[in-house]
Amino acid sequence: MIEKLKAEELWDILIIGGGATGLGIALDAVTRGYKVLVVEQSDFAKGTSSRSTKLVHGGVRYLAQGDVALVREASKERGLLRKNAPHLVKNQTFVIPVYSWLDKIKYGIGLKIYDWIAGGLSLGSSVLISRDQIIQALPEVVTRRLKGGVKYHDGQFDDSRLAINLVQTIIEQGGSAVNYMKVVSLLKDARKVCGAVLQDEESGDSFSVQAKAVVNATGVFVDGILKMDDPAARNSVVASQGIHLVFDRSVYSSEHALMIPKTSDGRVLFAVPWHQEVVVGTTDTLVGAPSMEPEALEEEINFILNTASQYLTKSLTRKEIKSIYVGLRPLAAPQEGSQKSKEISRSHKILHSGSYLFTIIGGKWTTFRKMGEDLVDDVEKTLSWPRTISVSRSFKIHGYREEVDWKDPLYFYGSDSEAIRKNLPDENDWLSERLRIYRGQVDWAVRHEMARTVEDFLARRTRALFLDAEESMRMAPEVAMLMAASLGKDKAWAAQQVLAFNTIAEKYKL
Ligand SMILES: Cc1cc2nc3c(=O)[nH]c(=O)nc-3n(C[C@H](O)[C@H](O)[C@H](O)COP(=O)(O)OP(=O)(O)OC[C@H]3O[C@@H](n4cnc5c(N)ncnc54)[C@H](O)[C@@H]3O)c2cc1C
Repeated sequence: MIEKLKAEELWDILIIGGGATGLGIALDAVTRGYKVLVVEQSDFAKGTSSRSTKLVHGGVRYLAQGDVALVREASKERGLLRKNAPHLVKNQTFVIPVYSWLDKIKYGIGLKIYDWIAGGLSLGSSVLISRDQIIQALPEVVTRRLKGGVKYHDGQFDDSRLAINLVQTIIEQGGSAVNYMKVVSLLKDARKVCGAVLQDEESGDSFSVQAKAVVNATGVFVDGILKMDDPAARNSVVASQGIHLVFDRSVYSSEHALMIPKTSDGRVLFAVPWHQEVVVGTTDTLVGAPSMEPEALEEEINFILNTASQYLTKSLTRKEIKSIYVGLRPLAAPQEGSQKSKEISRSHKILHSGSYLFTIIGGKWTTFRKMGEDLVDDVEKTLSWPRTISVSRSFKIHGYREEVDWKDPLYFYGSDSEAIRKNLPDENDWLSERLRIYRGQVDWAVRHEMARTVEDFLARRTRALFLDAEESMRMAPEVAMLMAASLGKDKAWAAQQVLAFNTIAEKYKL
């Protein structure tokens, strides 16, 4: 990839940021025939895109807020993504327990509207369920004053695995995507942005690339790039963090997800079964400068423990927490002189600078493809390029497979799983039996998925760090040795990798 990157004289579109947004743009652009380069300063999906609630959803919350246009767009994208990446997007049932008859009517009608908005791309009809049915579906639900509930369908996915499959798709279509490649400054020609200076974060080398269009898709980091373009640019976003606690399934045995539309302080709370654990979240806390490894605050952990314990009989305690992960959402920065910050609508927004730097903010994982389509349309229009038609809405993503055995430990590789399985010495060659990760996955991740560090493998090629931080630390030394063999590195490299991984993993443990 790096050789190709150095050899290319002029790219059509250079995309800065290898999260959901940047990859969605690259997917749409490359499948229209553009010469595309995506550069990511760290690993693909290292930022917010590996730290979501893992939902591909229309957004029941946005419906409650009256944002029907966003729910319609997201529901449509949910359906398309399930068609294009069925190996990663699961049809998940959600249950809302209700404790008053009024809520039962309100949520029952609301969810019918939710089904109706999704139309032909609905994942299944919502139904009202009785008190007995809900107790059967969610054995751990608090039953005092329980009046029944509503059952509905949404999508559930693995965020960083989708990012890796998108990178593979982009490359298969002739595009280029490189991790550990940071944009350190922008190039300008007659005051128009025409490329960037890149720094290879592994070798320290830097070099320039030229592009007809440059896109800033760096999530909470957009202001850093905007200031490279214009040092006087005012801040456009501030970061608000959301944490998730991951628990052992012993505290939550149901296959259905739990959804609380309105907690005591007006937030939404989810408990979603994910791989062999359950993810509970999230929070919304304004933080200062964005960081690549944000940390959970005590009050956020307490909020989730206390709130979940109001709805679940097995009260959740710190002892059962297997991992804590934190993501940052961009909020619209307050205007000069104002103290308020208001959340950017989850619908996305495209900004143009005077020097034709394109910046995209907002959106959700669910709408990544549509964001890509809109951005590429906008580039064509703004730069007066000949108009092309987006084909990404029906483009199958790498790993595509219709029949999925969700119990297979290798299910998330989709059509790649046979090749991986063929290279396993036997079906018991576990790196972690608890997390059902094989040794053979390490070499695959290095050779086919651009894993460069132990963290890449344990956090985003597999989800060990997010599922069980302690267990991932136990695995790290062996992963380092296996990776060193695949990458041709020495023991010193392996030792340094373990140290670096453990420093990060400590933040995922209590
Ligand atoms: C707590 C939480 C829960 C969420 N849950 C859901 C959900 O369940 N479903 C859903 O649909 N959406 C969800 N979202 C929203 C979704 O996760 C985000 O919309 C999406 O991940 C944002 O992707 P992004 O690419 O814009 O940002 P990011 O993923 O942060 O990517 C930006 C990338 O730019 C890179 N970068 C920065 N500077 C440079 C540079 N100079 N050079 C090169 N690269 C650079 C960063 O390293 C980073 O990887 C959630 C968000 C949060 C915060």
